[in-house]
Amino acid sequence: MYKRDLATHPGGIFGPWKQIWKSNTLTKIKCFTWLVCRRACLTQERLKKRGFQIVSRCFFCHEKEETNNHLFLHCRVTSQIWYMFQSIIQYPWVVPEHTADLLNCWMRRGGSKTQKKWRNLVPSCIWWSIWKERNNRCFKNITNPMQKVKENCINTLFFWCKEEGIYEVDQVVDFLGSL
Ligand SMILES: [Zn+2]
Repeated sequence: MYKRDLATHPGGIFGPWKQIWKSNTLTKIKCFTWLVCRRACLTQERLKKRGFQIVSRCFFCHEKEETNNHLFLHCRVTSQIWYMFQSIIQYPWVVPEHTADLLNCWMRRGGSKTQKKWRNLVPSCIWWSIWKERNNRCFKNITNPMQKVKENCINTLFFWCKEEGIYEVDQVVDFLGSL
């Protein structure tokens, strides 16, 4: 991406762009995180910008239009996953307007080396889980309860941390205890 382009984008030239590619995770997750921060996922917002005539509704709350920032940050239903991690990390924060700004703030937080490693995976993990569930609801007509989506999110984080050697525990319950 050119600097000129970045300067006019949420997150700006000092945004999370370098951190995304440096993070300890699979390339497909880095690419997906990049898309979320660039608001380039194929949400209804994106489809409308491409000229599709659709009545946009969020697949979670059914109240607001599905925009990138609504789906991944502000929806009252998907926010439950953010609240869950807020209580695990015990760090109060104000949700920014854009996903790029969130990642930027998130990556700059303190903590031990290990804490930083797993905490830096949290936004991508939440977005990944939300997007998978969103696509289940959109394309397969399958709606998992939010408790299940939260469990899937924790399991995904556990799997990623294990894969990257951040935590060596075998059970999710031990993983949660070590956070
Ligand atoms: Zn919503």
